Amino acid sequence: MNESTSDLDRAALPGTASPRRAGSSPVLRGEPPGRRHCPTCGAPRGQDATCYRCKSDLSPLIGLEREADAWRAEARRCYAQGWYRQAAALAQRALRIETSSEDLKLVICACLRYGDFRTACRTTGQLLDRGSGPRGSATCG
Ligand SMILES: [Zn+2]
Repeated sequence: MNESTSDLDRAALPGTASPRRAGSSPVLRGEPPGRRHCPTCGAPRGQDATCYRCKSDLSPLIGLEREADAWRAEARRCYAQGWYRQAAALAQRALRIETSSEDLKLVICACLRYGDFRTACRTTGQLLDRGSGPRGSATCG
């Protein structure tokens, strides 16, 4: 049962890092588009927790993004271990905070692996609504 060749396995972070520390480095290849701009004024975001243009405090938003990153990292770790039900549940937690095509794909693959076809189909619908088809970098391996 060597699943180390799947794309999701390759996308997983090294298993030694704590999931709570994952917020310090984005899990996704590239950040979700919503993270690139201030939600108040639309100015490009930098590293600061305060928007340079409108001075909005972005720290609560950054905290939520880090929480989503932690759930996402743990979901990928569980998927790599073959704990698909747990992986799907954790990816869904990340999705409650922030929608990402990669998380939707992980939920689909994990649900297919443990036989929850209803959730896999529903999630595929969400993915297609986002304009990102099921073909992509993430496969069920
Ligand atoms: Zn702003």
